[in-house]
Amino acid sequence: MHEVSLCRQLAASVTRATTGRPGGPSRVEAVYVTVGELRQVVPEALEHAWTFVVRGTALAGARLVLHQTPAVVVCDDCAHSARLPRQLGFTCCACGSAHTHLTSGEELVLTAVDVDDPPAAPAAPHEEGVLDGTLSPS
Ligand SMILES: [Zn+2]
Repeated sequence: MHEVSLCRQLAASVTRATTGRPGGPSRVEAVYVTVGELRQVVPEALEHAWTFVVRGTALAGARLVLHQTPAVVVCDDCAHSARLPRQLGFTCCACGSAHTHLTSGEELVLTAVDVDDPPAAPAAPHEEGVLDGTLSPS
């Protein structure tokens, strides 16, 4: 099932990005991913696979936040751009040219990671303003 292997790759990228930082590993709260619609990823399936893949790892509990981008074809001859039709035709619908290229729709990009940094006990909301001075190193 390709959602699981996608999630394994994502988890590995997130782990690489969040370990080895000063102050030790941070708890990851959310992972933001942009997926082009040509990837044919079912968001619910990817989220389910993510939960399964990160269970029991340092990433357990991290939310996967998906942003899907449409597939857009741009014509090289007349510069017309259009959402890719469902039949996956690559011919320009304005001038009929076959010289077109995709500008989006195939990406699968890890765009951001929210971390709880540093991994300390959560502060009570009304104490937010008095944390300065107790957390600064050196
Ligand atoms: Zn055209």
